[in-house]
Amino acid sequence: MSSTDQDPDRLYSAREPIFPRRVSGTFRSLKWWIMGITLGIYYLLPWVRWDRGPNLPDQAVLIDLANRRFFFFWIEIWPHEFYFVAGLLIMAGLGLFLFTSALGRVWCGYTCPQTVWTDLFILTERWIEGDRNKRVRLWKSGWDAHKIRLRVTKMILWLLIAVATGGAWVFYFADAPTLLGNLLTLQAHPVAYTTILVLTATTFVLGGFMREQVCIYMCPWPRIQAAMMDEDTLTIGYREWRGEPRGKHRKAEGAENLGDCIDCNACVNVCPMGIDIRDGQQLACITCGLCIDACDDVMEKIGKPRGLVDYMALSDESRERAGQAPKPVWKHIFRLRTVLYTTLWSAVGVALVVALFVRSEIDMTVSPVRNPIFVTLSDGSIRNTYDVRVRNMHGEPRWFHITVTPNDVFSVEVEGAANGMVEVAPDATALKRVYVIAAPGTDAARAAQTDLRIWLHDIEADERAYKDTVFNGTEIR
Ligand code: SF4
Ligand code: SF4
Repeated sequence: MSSTDQDPDRLYSAREPIFPRRVSGTFRSLKWWIMGITLGIYYLLPWVRWDRGPNLPDQAVLIDLANRRFFFFWIEIWPHEFYFVAGLLIMAGLGLFLFTSALGRVWCGYTCPQTVWTDLFILTERWIEGDRNKRVRLWKSGWDAHKIRLRVTKMILWLLIAVATGGAWVFYFADAPTLLGNLLTLQAHPVAYTTILVLTATTFVLGGFMREQVCIYMCPWPRIQAAMMDEDTLTIGYREWRGEPRGKHRKAEGAENLGDCIDCNACVNVCPMGIDIRDGQQLACITCGLCIDACDDVMEKIGKPRGLVDYMALSDESRERAGQAPKPVWKHIFRLRTVLYTTLWSAVGVALVVALFVRSEIDMTVSPVRNPIFVTLSDGSIRNTYDVRVRNMHGEPRWFHITVTPNDVFSVEVEGAANGMVEVAPDATALKRVYVIAAPGTDAARAAQTDLRIWLHDIEADERAYKDTVFNGTEIR
């Protein structure tokens, strides 16, 4: 019985263990490559160094929560630039829509962390306990020294993978070599140990014991993806019109009426979800393609064409049943829906790249102080106060000059700074109180509101930024 079979009279069905058999072929190779690349990136990326100068971290990818920065190689994202992260998330979502509408659940089958880590856990299991038949025998056998030794070895390796996975995660949030030293000498922050503990436990349980149950019961994606698929989506299916009636005994009487499926169960035995693709499209199928590899291997051995189990589109079924050739793959992939997703994805990507290249290295925010709205000075001048936050996004200290326009109407003073000159530390912000003054009797001193522009000039880079605000005169009363 597969794990997905249900007894209608029972409310609960215990998990049936699945023992996927080793398989080789195009899709298995693709999955090995993707697994190697994604795991390599995940485990090694925090250790890649990137020189940003003396005042900035030299970790290529760093989520610096303490200083509210995200470093990605040469890019540094500040909190006010969160739209870059939002844009990347939108691109990731659109990319997922695009691939799902074109190729079904490729995310689930090849790149989802649950799939990748489950593959790694199964690989370890197979290495220790052997391939499918040996694992089935071991599972059915009683407990003896041999079984205990294999189980303990497997658990230790799983645990090491889980610890490495949880450990790698925290290195993205602090300088990796320093944090590793602190972790080993028990000087790291308790949050780091707690995070590692939680991720170790989840990796160990989800990859070792829950595997397909995460996809079937816990993940919402299988339910959502149907909205992105249509009859032209390429997904994995069984050419039932070619395979049926299935039968093992090719030399028996009447065998000439059998279809191509020899009912060898190779496709079922390699399936990490424990399902039979010949039963049709199922929610449990993550479209990993392993059943294609298994069946193609069988077809080659019995001298039949490959593709009894294959990527195919629903819209081709009637054509194939009628003996016609299926539509070319590109016609399934390039259709209105995928072109629309690609266009949106590209538009967001181009907008982000443009925003990245035109963004200024200096920035400011201006908050008028409204309590009181204005102050009348002893000579009758009217003064408004503004809190100006100056951002220096450079890796070295910078001098900034704060001025206002129109400068024939207003004069400016910066608290604690001579001539409006302000020094800001590298990669930091400075909050300055700025006083703007209108001479007595001038229009600006009397008018309810006068437009005002506060300027910030980076002397060294000769870069300027400004913010518009208003100056409140006495008539506001
Ligand atoms: S049925 Fe085939 S494609 Fe679907 S999960 Fe099983 S092996 Fe992967
Ligand atoms: S691997 Fe192919 S031939 Fe064997 S049972 Fe599956 S569909 Fe039939």
